[in-house]
Amino acid sequence: MLIIMHINSTENQLEAVKQRIRAMNLTPHVIPGQTRCAIGITGNKGTLSPDLFKNLPGVVQCIPVTKPYKLVSREVRQEDTIIDLDGIKIGGKEIMIIAGPCAVENEEQIMLISQKLAEMGVKIFRGGAYKPRTSPYSFQGIGEKGLKLLAKVRAETGMKIVSEAIDNETLTIVAEYVDIIQIGARNMYNYSLLKKAGQLRKPVLLKRGLSATLEEFLMAAEYIASEGNFNIILCERGIRTFSDYSRNTLDMNLIPAIKRLSHLPILVDPSHATGDRKTVLPLARGAIAVGADGILVEVHHEPEVALSDGPQSLYPLQFKQLMKQLEKIALVSRSETGYF
Ligand code: PEP
Ligand code: MN
Repeated sequence: MLIIMHINSTENQLEAVKQRIRAMNLTPHVIPGQTRCAIGITGNKGTLSPDLFKNLPGVVQCIPVTKPYKLVSREVRQEDTIIDLDGIKIGGKEIMIIAGPCAVENEEQIMLISQKLAEMGVKIFRGGAYKPRTSPYSFQGIGEKGLKLLAKVRAETGMKIVSEAIDNETLTIVAEYVDIIQIGARNMYNYSLLKKAGQLRKPVLLKRGLSATLEEFLMAAEYIASEGNFNIILCERGIRTFSDYSRNTLDMNLIPAIKRLSHLPILVDPSHATGDRKTVLPLARGAIAVGADGILVEVHHEPEVALSDGPQSLYPLQFKQLMKQLEKIALVSRSETGYF
């Protein structure tokens, strides 16, 4: 259920509606919008009757929410959510290109690549300090030392930082250093981690699980939102299919579908979707063409010696060209809205 308050409703009226919801052992979520203030309700098992709220002062309308994911759905909020990091926006008119190496390896590597990317105009830098690897024998990341180096990158370049938390323990540490907390594909179903990330107020970049349906993906985001954190950025990063010529299969269908069903911004990660830098380039272009809010892409100045994901990491020059191409594609794809 979504309760729409009158544009001129008072704080007291809003509080009274929230009290009524709490008295029923349910949770109110205030969802401010540009043209209306709404209150989403979660915790109910069955449908709620509009009669319970429609006569309360300040209430204009009660709208049943038909989707299982509520707070992240367009039914509850029609305007796009824009994540704003001191004026650096994800989900707005402009596309956002997040770039950096798969992993923070050492100081020399991270300072070198971050310098190059900052000069190219990158605003948000990625780099894993804790790496969830398929093999326990593969490079696992340099941990907190890596986060400290990322903080140095921010201090020296002004770029914002995104890095992955792989469990509840690392979430607390990662949150201390980064501007955006990444929750990786393998953890999309880790509901205790999602809840904990929801209790923080830092933006969360949530990647789609390897075999997650659209509904499961949005329900994972709902876990974060239901704890009060609406600063969520979705990321399609390829799913498992029978196709075996690429690392994963990039599900381009998902982008317009998510745009229609949810107000959250969605990025595409063409690096993990393909596993091969030659394919990363066309798929990155495709992602912007189908309406993604940006991309998350791996770039390394020496991919041949990268400690993880070298084959899919772009060379800086390739990346520079790609950025120019994406700007042009975005001029076309973002001039048209109308997801509904
Ligand atoms: C990553 O972005 O570094 C990563 C491990 O991605 P994913 O969770 O999508 O595999
Ligand atoms: Mn990687």
